Amino acid sequence: MGRKVLVLGEAREGQLRNVSFEAIAAGKKIAGDGETIGVLIGESVGKHAEELIQYGADRVITVEDVQLAQYTSDAYSQAFMAVLDEEKPEGIVFGHTALGKDLSPKIAAKIGVGLVSDATSIEEEAGEVVFIRPIYSGKAFEKLSVRDGIVFATIRPNNIAPLEQDKARSGEVSSIEVPITNLRTIIKEVVRKTSKGVDLSEAKVVIAGGRGVKSEEGFDLLNELAEVLGGAVGASRGACDADYCNYSLQIGQTGKVVTPDLYIAAGISGAIQHLAGMSNSKVIVAINKDPEANIFKVADYGIVGDLFEVLPMLTEEFEKLRAVVN
Ligand SMILES: Cc1cc2nc3c(=O)[nH]c(=O)nc-3n(C[C@H](O)[C@H](O)[C@H](O)COP(=O)(O)OP(=O)(O)OC[C@H]3O[C@@H](n4cnc5c(N)ncnc54)[C@H](O)[C@@H]3O)c2cc1C
Repeated sequence: MGRKVLVLGEAREGQLRNVSFEAIAAGKKIAGDGETIGVLIGESVGKHAEELIQYGADRVITVEDVQLAQYTSDAYSQAFMAVLDEEKPEGIVFGHTALGKDLSPKIAAKIGVGLVSDATSIEEEAGEVVFIRPIYSGKAFEKLSVRDGIVFATIRPNNIAPLEQDKARSGEVSSIEVPITNLRTIIKEVVRKTSKGVDLSEAKVVIAGGRGVKSEEGFDLLNELAEVLGGAVGASRGACDADYCNYSLQIGQTGKVVTPDLYIAAGISGAIQHLAGMSNSKVIVAINKDPEANIFKVADYGIVGDLFEVLPMLTEEFEKLRAVVN
């Protein structure tokens, strides 16, 4: 059966986020032989429409307004609801990002449908679309299928592979004028605390430090390794609480959820609240001087040792490898 599916694309700093392409791939699985429509909301987002089509959207609808330059749930829900009213889809997909997590329940409540949030995989079983999502902080997985009404899901970044970009693909791009009114929140300025470079929640490699890193300067070792591997730096709450780094780096139950190809945890004990944010990473390497540390239970590779010796060694070896590859 074919469905018409709306997929919200997300742009940041002039670029579409990867999760937008992953969401298109998810949308296509839900659509079957139906139609996947990309939706772009922002101040001047039309320039990204073609790229969404190249990644699999059949067509794209844009809603542009100066009041949509920064995300607010009020303004974005007005814009998305207008597209929804016009298109009357049978499926909706958002990324399970800060934006998607905020907007999706609001839209689901407005239209009175359930929401499958934080799906990490979508499969087809006996002709039904089945979502797989982690529960109990990643200790178990549940399978869900939606048998009635609109299929509405958010997908965890870095889990569903995007389709290959096809630059020859083309599709219709249209725009909808939406009067954005009665805003309760106006964003005057956005001050980003995150470090430059790779976005932590989309990084393929994450080097995370814990209280064992002992100081803000200790994080330089992590930054150096991240630089060589083209990765992002993250942290445990222990490190954030100790003021070694900013809370925007926190990974875990009350921080960011990451699923990189490689997660290196240095000086992190492996509390359940930390594991909730990283245990689905594809390969986990733990560096800890305590051989009994809980982090070793989820690690694929464990290095029992002093991180102040191990991290510089790793950086040096990867630098040598990088020189060979380049
Ligand atoms: C409601 C709630 C929500 C929470 N949310 C989160 C969350 O989102 N994310 C999160 O991370 N935590 C969270 N926590 C906190 C969590 O319970 C732990 O306290 C925290 O993760 C511990 O951080 P840590 O592993 O860096 O520190 P510690 O537990 O102090 O571990 C430090 C580790 O470093 C090792 N070490 C020390 N020196 C070295 C060295 N030189 N070389 C190698 N290893 C060394 C030690 O052996 C130890 O294992 C939450 C707690 C609560 C109650």
